Amino acid sequence: MKLLLPATVRQVAGQLGVWERIESALADRDWIDEIASLPVRPSRAATRLGSYQQRGGSPRAILLQPVLEPHLLRETFLHELAHACDHRDNQAGRIYRRPHGEGWRDWMARLGCRPEVRGHSAALAMQYVSRLKTVAVCSRCGSEVRRLRRLNRRVRYLHAGCGGRLKPV
Ligand SMILES: [Zn+2]
Ligand SMILES: [Zn+2]
Repeated sequence: MKLLLPATVRQVAGQLGVWERIESALADRDWIDEIASLPVRPSRAATRLGSYQQRGGSPRAILLQPVLEPHLLRETFLHELAHACDHRDNQAGRIYRRPHGEGWRDWMARLGCRPEVRGHSAALAMQYVSRLKTVAVCSRCGSEVRRLRRLNRRVRYLHAGCGGRLKPV
């Protein structure tokens, strides 16, 4: 399955087959359309599966890693959606606090999820490893240092393993 992003909560829920449960969890709330039209955008974070963004005391967007396995996509989407519902329901107009508190746990239950905070994605871990670049080589032992970002060339780095000088590549 390839998730098409950006999209709205309603569209992503349709792609993931979870709209019916969201609709019934939100049936008695007059802000259901607000949540349904909330944007879902691709996340570029290195290791987080997803996140919830707020602005001015209101839900702003859900970010999701499109490379996740289907069950994790569904789980992560509902986890972040529960934050949006908790914010809108219990803390409307205020900066969202206590993100994994009682209100969020209630919304997770309404959405048919166990209130676990994070899953692990093998697909995301592989994407992370493939994004690492060799940024330096140790001049003493030849070890390569791999990171997401380059080293600052004006700083001298030593290899933690042997104490040799690291040469940026
Ligand atoms: Zn969370
Ligand atoms: Zn070394």
